[in-house]
Amino acid sequence: MAQDSLSRYSIDADWSSLYIGGEWRASDSGDTIAVTDPSTRETVTEVPRGNDADVDAAYEAAAEAQTEWEQTPPARREELVQNLLQTMDEHSEEIVDLLATEAGQIEGMGETSVHLAEDQIAEAATLPRRMKGEHAASNIPGKENVVQREPQGVVTVISPWNFPLNLSARAIVPAVAAGNTVVVKPATNTPVVGGLLFARLFEDAGFPEGVINVVTGRGSEIGDAVASHDQSDVVAFTGSTEVGRRVAAAAGENLAEAAMELGGNNAHIVTDDADLEQAVNAGVFGSFAHQGQVCISINRHLVHEDVYDEYVEKIAERAENLPAGSAHDHVVVGPIIDESQRDEILDYVERTVDAGATLETGGETVELDGVEDSLVVEPTVLSDVTNDMAAACNEHFGPVVPVIPFSDVDEAVELANDTEFGLSGSVHAGDVGAGKRIAQRMETGMVHVNDQPINDEAHVPFSGTGASGVGGYNTDDFLDEATEKKWISLQHEDREFPF
Ligand code: NAP
Repeated sequence: MAQDSLSRYSIDADWSSLYIGGEWRASDSGDTIAVTDPSTRETVTEVPRGNDADVDAAYEAAAEAQTEWEQTPPARREELVQNLLQTMDEHSEEIVDLLATEAGQIEGMGETSVHLAEDQIAEAATLPRRMKGEHAASNIPGKENVVQREPQGVVTVISPWNFPLNLSARAIVPAVAAGNTVVVKPATNTPVVGGLLFARLFEDAGFPEGVINVVTGRGSEIGDAVASHDQSDVVAFTGSTEVGRRVAAAAGENLAEAAMELGGNNAHIVTDDADLEQAVNAGVFGSFAHQGQVCISINRHLVHEDVYDEYVEKIAERAENLPAGSAHDHVVVGPIIDESQRDEILDYVERTVDAGATLETGGETVELDGVEDSLVVEPTVLSDVTNDMAAACNEHFGPVVPVIPFSDVDEAVELANDTEFGLSGSVHAGDVGAGKRIAQRMETGMVHVNDQPINDEAHVPFSGTGASGVGGYNTDDFLDEATEKKWISLQHEDREFPF
């Protein structure tokens, strides 16, 4: 691939090859898939349409490279992960552009993604030296118990399109740091930033061949082959609950460990004594950041009846004034990733209004010059919503604010918990202690008091309960998924047996 070092990271670079065993190679299928920019709806690049033969080749390469990689001294693995961090940093501006072009992330959101990815890589760089074991006394005379932590082997990473850089990074890098090799299947909407980009970064950072292998292709075509591959020891999946159930079943059939981070339906509770200005500010960010396409976005605003009208008025006014348009312009709300997601969001809004809710603002697409059938959805606020209406009981994944009234804290908690999901949430209360007590009653993996639910710090656990998944990311949690403990006992003196 003869490209100068700068253009290697732009969308105009050649992304038409898979990365397997340290080689860029065409798919066995000979086919490609077009990648479109959701702002302009134009084709921006093409990636290989991987097939089952490519999947087999990727696992073969990963399995072959794993033993040597595992035996690489921790200091060297750490050094390579640090090189990766530096390489990402050197190309951060190009990566922000890639995120805008492929994922429709506005510039500020792209910058946030890159900072978080760097935080994730920095945290992963500490893992090679933190793979500590245990030493336990024995009930058997003369025996010494040693428990050591070992990499699982080959880790499969399947990531979604909404935050492709981070949701791939948080699994790929700690898995590799811990001595595993990886096979990555990025989402078809974001195959570069979720997959092929990592291959390039790893290559430039100097990792040995076979440590990372990337196969692009449709989940409907190669998903089962990836999730159920007999050389896969862990399946780290982030995506919808529907697909996650299928992937977990395939991994289970193969007795591979399944780390599942799935959907959410996150509540933002605002009590009668909350600072309303702060609650609205947080509500605006938590609902409209990345067009609401974040698993930890606010899906429902639960607001005390005494402050309900004021809250609705303020948040509708804010929504009306948020600039919405192309992710390449200076806007706050960019495009939805594709037509089917956009249509689903608009359908939830329409069904909610049909069921009796009031459309305060929004509910339409935003016309963009030169773009046929724009994917930008107006920031939308719905009042008089009940928990059973379409925009509330489904993960709407759009720039939509359904506001639901409650009369006391017990009712707020009941409404918040009335969902199969349990990912994130937030509470605004006049008193932080009261907010904490409400947070403790919310059945979610994460809750943020006097804030909004979109928070992620690589040294703090990130996980959901219920239909939001099993297993967790960040700090030591993903290390637990990507490694296993091995008990070795040493019998120092002759042991007496009963027969
Ligand atoms: P998705 O449709 O479930 O897809 C996720 C990934 O799975 C994609 O790479 C997809 O490939 C692949 N896939 C599809 N069918 C498959 C199969 N049969 N076997 C194996 N893999 C398959 O999810 P999405 O629409 O990309 O992402 C949005 C969802 O992700 C939302 O529900 C959101 O809440 C959730 N999410 C959760 C978290 C979290 O941390 N809990 C974070 C972000 C997003 P294709 O793209 O080729 O179909």
